[in-house]
Amino acid sequence: MRGKRLMAVAAALVGLGMIAGTAMPAGAQAASAAAPQSIPGFDASVMDTTANPCNDFYQFACGNYAKLHPIPSDLPWFNQFVALYEFNTAALHQVVEQAEHAGPDRSANAQKIGDYYQACMDTDAINQAGLTPLEPELKRIDDLQSKAELPELIARLNRMGVNVFMSYGSQQDLKDADKEIAVIDQDGLGLPEKDYYLRTDAHSVELRKQYVAHLAKMLTLLGDPADKVQTEADAIMKFETELAKASQGIVERRDPKATYHMEEVTAFAATAPDLSAAKYIAAIGSPAVTSLNVAAPDYFKGLNAAIEDTDLATLKAYMRVHLADSFSQRLPQTFEEASFDFYGHDLTGTPQQQARWKRCVNAVDGSMGDALGQLYVAKYFTPDQKQEALTMVHGIETAMAQDIESLSWMSPETKVKAIAKLHEVTDKIGYPNKWRSYASLTIKPDDALGNSVRAREFETAYELNKIGKPVDRSEWGMTPPTVNAYYDPSQNSINFPAGILQPPFYDKDDPATTNYGHIGAVVGHELTHGFDDQGSQYDGHGNLADWWTPQDKKNFEARTACVVNEYDQFEGVPGLHVNGKLTLGENTADNGGIRLAMMALMARMAMDGGRTPGPAASAAEAKFTPMQQFFIAYAQNWCTNDRPQMDRMLVQTDPHSPNPIRVKGVLVNVPEFSKAFSCKVGQPMDPAQKCRVW
Ligand SMILES: [Zn+2]
Repeated sequence: MRGKRLMAVAAALVGLGMIAGTAMPAGAQAASAAAPQSIPGFDASVMDTTANPCNDFYQFACGNYAKLHPIPSDLPWFNQFVALYEFNTAALHQVVEQAEHAGPDRSANAQKIGDYYQACMDTDAINQAGLTPLEPELKRIDDLQSKAELPELIARLNRMGVNVFMSYGSQQDLKDADKEIAVIDQDGLGLPEKDYYLRTDAHSVELRKQYVAHLAKMLTLLGDPADKVQTEADAIMKFETELAKASQGIVERRDPKATYHMEEVTAFAATAPDLSAAKYIAAIGSPAVTSLNVAAPDYFKGLNAAIEDTDLATLKAYMRVHLADSFSQRLPQTFEEASFDFYGHDLTGTPQQQARWKRCVNAVDGSMGDALGQLYVAKYFTPDQKQEALTMVHGIETAMAQDIESLSWMSPETKVKAIAKLHEVTDKIGYPNKWRSYASLTIKPDDALGNSVRAREFETAYELNKIGKPVDRSEWGMTPPTVNAYYDPSQNSINFPAGILQPPFYDKDDPATTNYGHIGAVVGHELTHGFDDQGSQYDGHGNLADWWTPQDKKNFEARTACVVNEYDQFEGVPGLHVNGKLTLGENTADNGGIRLAMMALMARMAMDGGRTPGPAASAAEAKFTPMQQFFIAYAQNWCTNDRPQMDRMLVQTDPHSPNPIRVKGVLVNVPEFSKAFSCKVGQPMDPAQKCRVW
C-alpha cells in the first residue's frame, strides 16, 4: 500500500524485523513450535515503588523493567509490544507448522502457507543453489546497454519490491476519497532517510563509513573483483547522496499537502525525461493513466540530474546491491549475514540475527497475511473479545463527543463539524470482513527465492489493479496478527488488529481500570489522530478539506505549538533531543488518548454505581486506588529496554516519542494524574504550565 498514510500507535515491528532481517546462527536448529505463554497485564514486579511518582512516574511504574527483562540477543529492544509480538510469532509458528504437515488434502491456503515456510526454512537448499535463482534478474541488469533502457528495468525491480530510484503504486485520492489514483514517489535510499546522508556529527559519519563498507561487501559477494569494490561502493554512496539531497525530509512529509501534486503524465515526463514515464508505467504493469500524484516533485528533478551525472556502471552496481539486499533472506547465508551486519548490528546494535523460524513465520505473514490471519483469529480471537473491544471503542467515541462539546477554545460552528466527523469514523476490530484470495499466487515447497519474488509481484499487481477503481473501504492496512493499531485519515477509520487485542493490552481477567489504561489509551490514541495536525486537515469522508473557522484553526495551532515546544525539551538519548515537530501527531494522540480512555472509564464506573467494572483487582493492584491503577497501567504500556543504537535511530526517524517520554510527556499534562498521586504544583510530574489540545 504505497502512499497510504497509517498513523500507528507504535513503531512498526514488522519493518523492524525487515531491517534487522537476518539469518539463523550457524548450527542453530529450527525450534519446534511451542505453545506461547501469555503476558501479565498489571505487573507489580517491574515497578520501583521506592521512586516518588511525582518526580519520575516512568521510574515508579517501570523502574525494574529493564533489570527483569534483559534484551534478547536477537532483538534491538524489549518492551510490551515486543513481548506480545514474540507471543504472536510463537502462535503463528504453530499455525504454519500445522499447515506444513497437514497432508495432501489440506486447503489451498494451507498449502501456500506450509510450502512457503518449508522452502524458507530449507537453508541447505538455499546455500546450495547459491546465486543461481537470482541469476535472471542479475543478468537483466548486466545486459543493460544504455540509460535509455533504464525505465523498463526500474519498473521490473520496483514490481519485485526492490526500492531503487523511486516507487510507484496506488493511493486514495486525497481530494476525492472515493477514487484510487496512481502515485509516484521518492525512494531508493539504502540508509533510513535523507538526513543520514547529510548530518555531520561523529555518529553519522561513522555510520556512513559502515554503510559504504556494507555496499563493498555485497559487491564482493556478488563476484566483483576486490580491487574494484571500494570505488564502486563510493560511487553508489555519491549517487544516493544526490538522491538524498533531492528528497523531502520526514518532517516536511508530515503535511499531507506536501505530498499531493496531481500532474498530467505528459507534464511529469517532461520534468524527468530520463525516466520515460509512459514506458515505465506500462512496464510496471499499471493500468493506463493520464494523470498521477507526483508526491515529491523536486525529487524527480534531482533524480533525473543524478542519473545524468552518474555513469552506467555505477547505476548497475546500485541496482545489483539493492536487489541482493532486498532478497538477502532467500540467498545463501553469507548474504543474509552481510545484510544483518549492517541493518541489524550497525544500525540497531543487535548482536545476533533472529532465529530463522521467526523470520520465516514473519515472511509468511508479510506475504499472505490474510491467509495466515484467518487461522490465527480462529484460535486467538473470540467473538467475546470483539464485543468487548467494540463496547470500549463506543464508550471512547462518546467521551470524545463530550470532550469536543466542552472545549473552551472552539466555536460552536466548528464543534458541529468536528462532531460530524467523529460520527463518520468507521470502527474496524480484529480482522477484515472479507478475506483476500491468494488463488493466483504460486508457492512451491522448494523455491524460496521464487516464492518471495512471486509473492511480491502478486502484491504489486494487487495494488496497481486498484488504480482508477472505486475505493474499497473494507480493506485493512495491517495483517490480523500485527501488534499495532492505526488511524487512516483517507478512510476516517480506526483499526485494531486481533494481534493487539491480547494480553497484556487487553485481558478479560483484568479489571476495567487496567484494561482502559492499556488498550483504552490505544483506542483513544487512534481516535485522536483523526483530529491531530494531520487528521484535522481531512473531513469525515476522508477528503482533504478545511472545516475549521480561521480563528479556531489559530487556537488549535497555538495549542499544538505548546506540545511541540514541550517535547522539544526532552532528551531522547544523551545529546539528542526529541523532535517536537516530527512527533507532534503522535504526542497529540497520546495526550488525547489517555484523556478519552479516562473519561470512558469514569463513565462506565458511574454506570456501575462507582465500582470498577469487570473482574476484581488482584491483591497487587488493590494496593492502589482505581485511578492510580489506571495511570500505572497506562505507563506500563511503555516499559522498555532498548539498545542505545536503536534509541538513536528511533529519535532520528520515528514519529513516536521514546517510550519513557510517552509516559512523562503525557502525564505532566493531566491534572487527574497529579490528583491521583497527590503531586504538588512545581514537582517534576506536575508543572504549572500544561499543554492540552484535545
Ligand atoms: Zn499514533
